[in-house]
Amino acid sequence: MKLTPPCLQSLSPVFSHELLAPLPRFSPFHFIFRKSRGVGYRSSYCKNMNNEGDIMEHVVFDGAQVMVGNPHLLQTKISSTRIDGPSKLQVIADFDATLTKYWIDGQRGHSSHGLLQQGNAEFDLKRQKLYDYYHPLEIDPTIPLDEKAKLMEEWWEKTHALLIEGGLSYGAIKSSVANSRIAFREGVTELFELLERSNVPVLIFSAGLADIIEEVLRQKLHRSFKNVRIVSNRMVFDQNGDLVSFKGKTIHVLNKNEHALDMAGPLHDQLGDANGLTGDVFSVKTRTNVLLLGDHIGDLGMSDGLNYNTRISVGFLNDNIESSSDSYRSAFDVVYMNDAAMWGVVKLASQLCSTLDD
Ligand SMILES: [Mg+2]
Repeated sequence: MKLTPPCLQSLSPVFSHELLAPLPRFSPFHFIFRKSRGVGYRSSYCKNMNNEGDIMEHVVFDGAQVMVGNPHLLQTKISSTRIDGPSKLQVIADFDATLTKYWIDGQRGHSSHGLLQQGNAEFDLKRQKLYDYYHPLEIDPTIPLDEKAKLMEEWWEKTHALLIEGGLSYGAIKSSVANSRIAFREGVTELFELLERSNVPVLIFSAGLADIIEEVLRQKLHRSFKNVRIVSNRMVFDQNGDLVSFKGKTIHVLNKNEHALDMAGPLHDQLGDANGLTGDVFSVKTRTNVLLLGDHIGDLGMSDGLNYNTRISVGFLNDNIESSSDSYRSAFDVVYMNDAAMWGVVKLASQLCSTLDD
């Protein structure tokens, strides 16, 4: 397969000097910077002349602004995943600000939940008030996790009840998506296509709404993928296209993981392809290597419930880069910064799906 990633020469502003210091001394990721108005620009980099460095340079860089905390560990994980082959691999991805862009035309992109306009101002306001009350609780580090999980469940259930009570049609979802500020990162289509060709399932875990995410996929990518499934809250519409209930248990920010596979509503109702991948491919419990994509450290919990052998985690650090860089570099194997495109992940996935002889 021939990929056409952006040229390595057309590099954009990179992270600041402070981010360089903690990198291992012999890391292949030593950059040379020149300063310009307080922002570091990558002008060239020093290759570590060993195979490890060379391979990883091709795998994860691809012009993006990237941190790798432990190159040796990453290379070990890449090698062992390749040995097991694509039949043992699954991809687990968060949706908002991971597959989608964080910034769009200088403004924050919408989330799949945030874009929804119920078509009823009174109920849009009621849902906003719930957000104003519960969101500070969600990010309050002093609340114990079990207590917070109950609060999150309460929030989600009240929101879902308002969507039913205030009325929501499938048509409103379509028009909300059409009018929203949401876009996929460049390279997402190519990533899904590559994984589809290799019969590697992609599970998109989201505490949002599956029906909205599917509509975003439909409107923004203009095609479906037989290997992509949404694990999220799924709506039930009546014959008139009006929301009447939700399927399965509520999936919120603190329980969106492989356990949710068992409690979510049926997957892939509407994007499904009659000739799509069968249950064998989606026997994800037997696929013991994971490529995980997320934009929050909490997204690492998406692989909870899976007894994996190797997990390669990729983080997107979209904002507050200086204050969060240390924690992201420690938590994820690879960190892409500044709302990077997906091209580095495409290359990484291409490596993981190739044989050792390629
Ligand atoms: Mg996210």
